[in-house]
Amino acid sequence: MFGFLKRKAKRPVVYRRQDHCISRKNIDPDALKVLYRLSSLGYTAYLVGGGVRDLLMGRTPKDFDVGTSAKPNELKKVFRNCYLIGRRFRLAQIRFGGKVIETATFRQNSQTVGEIIEHAVEGPMEDNTFGTPETDAYRRDFTVNGLFYDIKDFSVIDWVGGMKDLKDRVIRSIGDPNVRFQEDPVRMMRAIKFSSRLGFSIEPKTMAAMKRHHACILTASQPRVCEEVFRLFTYGHSEEAFRLMWQTGLLGDLLPGLSEAIGKTGGEKSPEWAYLRVLDSLEQLRAKEGIEVSNGLRAAVLMTVLLKVDKTDGASRRVMQMMLSALKIPKTAYFTAVLLMESRVRLCKAPNKARARFIYNRDFPDALDYNRIVVRAEGGDESAINEWADLYEQKGINNECDELVQG
Ligand code: ATP
Ligand code: MG
Repeated sequence: MFGFLKRKAKRPVVYRRQDHCISRKNIDPDALKVLYRLSSLGYTAYLVGGGVRDLLMGRTPKDFDVGTSAKPNELKKVFRNCYLIGRRFRLAQIRFGGKVIETATFRQNSQTVGEIIEHAVEGPMEDNTFGTPETDAYRRDFTVNGLFYDIKDFSVIDWVGGMKDLKDRVIRSIGDPNVRFQEDPVRMMRAIKFSSRLGFSIEPKTMAAMKRHHACILTASQPRVCEEVFRLFTYGHSEEAFRLMWQTGLLGDLLPGLSEAIGKTGGEKSPEWAYLRVLDSLEQLRAKEGIEVSNGLRAAVLMTVLLKVDKTDGASRRVMQMMLSALKIPKTAYFTAVLLMESRVRLCKAPNKARARFIYNRDFPDALDYNRIVVRAEGGDESAINEWADLYEQKGINNECDELVQG
């Protein structure tokens, strides 16, 4: 008689409360409300994704997402403040004032995230899209993003080996990275984002798959790719992020002109890295003040190295046009970036009557930052920029300044 090979039942590793550092004190009170409510009604309710990862690392999570056994229509009944979004995969947003706790029913990898976003179709949810905690863990991208915090007993549930990778500071694909990156190529950029932001290494097989499948990024939707490009700047680690983009070939696919310019200006020693490094220190400073750097400034700094290889008239416009058509960056970012690049001519000299009106331009603060970044990265003299900064600070306070400008 033939016996069927039974698949060995997999069990997760469970870390009890005393074996990890997550404290409810650090969890958003509204996320706790959602978790407790679901749990009291008999549903499984976990904190999932980046929130668990960040709490385990002692960082403040950007947002708190919930995974549950409750179906979208059940969530709608339980929470008056619940809004179902997405046409096919119905993600629940539970709203508390301006805050949103995203709550998703456990699902399986029958559809990739990319497909859910790109090919949303009308119609009822197929039941087979939903899954179990196990399938929900395995459909996630990286092991450190696949951990669950269970509100029932405050344990951390690990199906994918995320705890060890978190301890070893490694970004590792869940499942075969060759499959997972072809399924949703944006995951390659996400690997880079997490690696640079958290200071983690990328596990060798995951890295090899990125180097093999980088060109698939061209099949991903432009808005998602554009969003990920700008997210590489947040948290002030764009130098590491774009180095990885360049080394893996992803940058060459998305912005071939930029990748070539980096090669022509010294590769690993290109001034590109110094521009991004100085921008990163500004990003970190602004983040502490709760201010986000504009995408126009980020785009201009990223593309500045191209002005080293093209010094002809109209280069700023051409360079930014390249980024506009490759990534469909927002028009406002495009116009700001061109203006910033062109402001070098004006801000490289101290202000005088003819030039000083520029301080009234809406983009002047960005122009000041842009010029400082370029000059500092190139090791130049910042005295003209300091004079512009002084003039700007006196604007509206000191009549002399206004007289100088308005004549
Ligand atoms: P961040 O701190 O930037 O928000 P995050 O890990 O929370 O990081 P999100 O984009 O908010 O990332 O996604 C939440 C979770 O959803 C991730 O942690 C991951 O488990 C899962 N996820 C997101 N995008 C994908 C994807 N493309 N493929 C598979 N799983 C994904
Ligand atoms: Mg998140």
